[in-house]
Amino acid sequence: DSVEEADFVLVNTCAVRGKPVEKVRSLLGQLRKEKERRGLLIGMMGCLAQLDEGQQMAKKFGVDVLLGPGALTSLPEALKANERFFDLTFREDVLDYIPPPPKGALSAHVTIIRGCNHHCTYCIVPTTRGPEVSRHPDLILKEIELLKQAGVVEVTLLGQNVNSYGKDQPGFPSFAELLRMVGGMGIPRVRFLTSHPVNFTDDIIEAIAETPAICRYIHLPVQSGSDRVLRRMAREYRRAHYLERIRKIREALPDAVLSTDIIVGFPGETEEDFQILLDFLEEAELDRVGVFAYSPVEGAEANRLPDPVPEEVKEERKARLLEVQARVSLRKNQRFVGKTLEVLVDELPEPGLAVGRTYRDAPGVDGVVYVETDGTVRVGERIPVRILRADTYDLHGVQA
Ligand code: SAH
Ligand code: SF4
Repeated sequence: DSVEEADFVLVNTCAVRGKPVEKVRSLLGQLRKEKERRGLLIGMMGCLAQLDEGQQMAKKFGVDVLLGPGALTSLPEALKANERFFDLTFREDVLDYIPPPPKGALSAHVTIIRGCNHHCTYCIVPTTRGPEVSRHPDLILKEIELLKQAGVVEVTLLGQNVNSYGKDQPGFPSFAELLRMVGGMGIPRVRFLTSHPVNFTDDIIEAIAETPAICRYIHLPVQSGSDRVLRRMAREYRRAHYLERIRKIREALPDAVLSTDIIVGFPGETEEDFQILLDFLEEAELDRVGVFAYSPVEGAEANRLPDPVPEEVKEERKARLLEVQARVSLRKNQRFVGKTLEVLVDELPEPGLAVGRTYRDAPGVDGVVYVETDGTVRVGERIPVRILRADTYDLHGVQA
């Protein structure tokens, strides 16, 4: 429960931007002190572990166990070893491993594909996670069946680019086919993360439209609204393609919630590019936007591009973007006022009040619904709620 009492601390890391890397550095510094004081064992895993930067950190701070994202299944062996244990291989059996269902959880993630075959110039993921490898559908279905038996009512299919599922393995279903299979298993809410605009094909849209259990929430990262920037990012589509995809999604799935990721301050992004991006946001009318200041990560190609954008300009653009998007998001959220929506109850903070999510809101990141209830509802129940009021992201309503 706490670092002070633990015998072994395993630090899971992210290398996608500089900030999480610095957090790991300072945490490892603290852990080393604890280690010197009372012989604690330190483990480190995740994407940073796979990179030179992470390995140097591991040596400097006396990490005992270092496992790359492809070596998770080496953990038992690592814990038995009486000496430093570093494994950065991509083990065949990692995708075969079925984790035990999390105790008492309503929502769970299930990996369906590892790695990424795209080469976005800002991104370190293809380096740390390798090429796309799909997981056997039998294992995916088995894991989901176990989760269902354990009471999980919401499953998120996970991968860097889930739309590519099956392409690397002859005989595997396509992503659209997998969606239909999982959607028919009796799990009331099925989600997926992350999609790529190039691979988000019509058959996927059709599969969602025809499968009620698939949530009407699509996270489709665009990264920029300016074609010049998209080209430098090596994103393989242009603004018009993205807009055409979301038009198609809305046609088939009216009222779907769409969210995106955007990087501001990419090398060479001019004020004009940024204005084009703001204009894109007004035109696309997405529900939610995650915005990141471009972070030069060691080993990513964009690091070598000319014309870096000063930090203060990145921050200023980020703030301006959020301001524009807040107006769009509020406008979009208001379309739910007066409607009755199904809400999955996540929490009961006080008698007569429930906090939950519609099947358009993903766990952890997005909006919630505050519901006045009759006091008898339980966590995990799905209840009809009449929406009375909308904030930028959240909704307020009464049990119907
Ligand atoms: N596979 C997903 C997610 C990749 S990482 C995709 O294709 O979009 C999650 C988000 O982090 C990305 O969508 C991107 O917006 C952001 N990101 C990745 N590298 C970054 C960098 N170097 N600087 C800032 N943001 C970055
Ligand atoms: Fe990174 Fe996503 Fe691009 Fe793959 S598609 S390189 S994970 S941003």
